[in-house]
Amino acid sequence: MSGTNIHVLHRPAPLPAGFLRVGHTGQHKLEALLAADRLPYRRFVFDAAHLAGHGDLRQAIGRVGGEIVLDLNAAETAAPGRFASAVARLPWSNPDRPWTPADFGAGRNDDLCRRMAEFVLHAGAHAVLAPTHAIEDGAWADVDRRAVEGLRRELDRVGAASVAIDHMVIIGARELRDAAQCRAAIDAAADLPIQNIWLRVGGFGATATGVGTRHLIEAVRRLHTLGRPLIIDMAGGFPALAALAFGAIGGISHGVAQRETFDLAAWRKPPPERKGGGLQTRIYLADLDRYFDAEQTKAFFAARGIRSRFACADSTCCQSGVEDMLENPHVHFLTQRHRQIEVLGRVPEDRRAEHFLLHNMDPALRSTRQAAKLKFADETVQKAVADAKARLGRLRDALGVLHQADAGAASRSRAPAFRGRPCKSSQVAAIVGAGS
Ligand SMILES: [Zn+2]
Repeated sequence: MSGTNIHVLHRPAPLPAGFLRVGHTGQHKLEALLAADRLPYRRFVFDAAHLAGHGDLRQAIGRVGGEIVLDLNAAETAAPGRFASAVARLPWSNPDRPWTPADFGAGRNDDLCRRMAEFVLHAGAHAVLAPTHAIEDGAWADVDRRAVEGLRRELDRVGAASVAIDHMVIIGARELRDAAQCRAAIDAAADLPIQNIWLRVGGFGATATGVGTRHLIEAVRRLHTLGRPLIIDMAGGFPALAALAFGAIGGISHGVAQRETFDLAAWRKPPPERKGGGLQTRIYLADLDRYFDAEQTKAFFAARGIRSRFACADSTCCQSGVEDMLENPHVHFLTQRHRQIEVLGRVPEDRRAEHFLLHNMDPALRSTRQAAKLKFADETVQKAVADAKARLGRLRDALGVLHQADAGAASRSRAPAFRGRPCKSSQVAAIVGAGS
């Protein structure tokens, strides 16, 4: 047999997954983007607390075969800073005070899993996030374990056997780094009836430092012994993309230009007085790895030489550059974030870290260093650019050192399987249009 006739068949590398958290507002915008075939995401996370107002979007996603994951918001019902929010309406919440582990002793509140299973059945989800709580010295460990097993039994009993349970580990960054607590989380999840494992790590996300990102990647790798795909929840920006590129996780989950950092500290204390006002428009500057409001964006682009480096040149989201970024910040953000995830999927797994450093971090750092030399009319922009330069420099350094230390030998998370129904992009608009 001659050498030229030998074909080595490689299995395609598993694709990193992007999950979009629908949040409590903006569903009409998402529905319009889906109908116009401008929504690149195919995996969605709905909050149980807001599901009632999201029926049309949920059905539209269902028609195009999108994957639907339901977050039962169980952890919020035990969080002093969250129990009185919209989650107070859920049939498994206590509107009077946050739940404590003592509320779930023998024979107490043992019908909550049934209520959750019935809710899940009507929601038409492919998977549900386990009703677990923030890890606080193991106080919830037994309650959470029984809840996952109980929910599985109840789902099977009500006729929702096909709905998977994804485990949810909610943990502070320090606790995650602690080998003993991490071991306890691994042991607790080892034989649960679960598919993927989601991680919400306090303080980690779009604004994480270089040191914080490196620590997260190294700590999360310990969970690879479980053999389950890992997804980091409420995380975005270069730190989350780095965790994906370095193989610590197989998927990321974030909101529409929000919920890209998980603030566990805010869950632990009573909520501040609401000052009113809606959500501010946030415009994503990919190379700065941060957001500006509309006024800051205008001040930023008013500086000479900024447009050529920072204006979106992607005709699939911003044909008119800065004007489109300002007019359609959602489309711009979703297109760019999805592309960052998708591009990693086209690179062989063992080259993703290097690719991320050379093709995401380095150009961003060069652009940001250039911008830091300029004078901006808005002081907050000037400071933001200086901060971005310092943060990206430290992130690049930390990841560069980690990449060298790994020397290609680090373990990798599996990627989560797609649980919706495959559907060609070209069919989406027709299907959604026909149903509306
Ligand atoms: Zn754009």
